[in-house]
Amino acid sequence: MDDCIFCKIIANEIPSYTVYEDDIVKAFLDISQGTPGHTLVIPKKHVPDLFAYDEELASAVFARIPKIARAVKASNPTIKGMNVLNNNGAVAYQSVFHSHFHLVPRYTDHDDFKMIFKDNSANYSAADYQKIQQSIIDHMED
Ligand code: 5GP
Ligand code: ZN
Repeated sequence: MDDCIFCKIIANEIPSYTVYEDDIVKAFLDISQGTPGHTLVIPKKHVPDLFAYDEELASAVFARIPKIARAVKASNPTIKGMNVLNNNGAVAYQSVFHSHFHLVPRYTDHDDFKMIFKDNSANYSAADYQKIQQSIIDHMED
């Protein structure tokens, strides 16, 4: 994609601090460094978001995430855990529309990082869960 910043990074038209690359993915430091070591894993094929993956691409990309995550974790002995994030759609805070997975190393439970959703279970009856469950089942691809 001509005007895609991550396609330009893949083509080395924009420099990046690459930590892993093969024919399927590229992994490089997120410029924001939400926490030290914050890394992005992107497919080399331009897909805008998770909804655009087919099973073959998903298998290939997801298969590579654990070893990249292990290397990031091993790179610094003070990394205790990691959040893996994938934002889809502007409403979900996606700002670059070339799909990517954030590997965000965690050092403490009070890192400068927030990922909060409320527990709304008190507002849900069994019927509410079942209605949502059935609608998702009805839309599942074969
Ligand atoms: P999103 O908000 O779409 O989930 O995440 C996009 C990420 O891309 C942001 O964390 C942002 O810091 C990162 N980013 C945007 N432009 C560049 C760039 O030119 N180089 C690098 N390395 N990261 C970028
Ligand atoms: Zn792209």
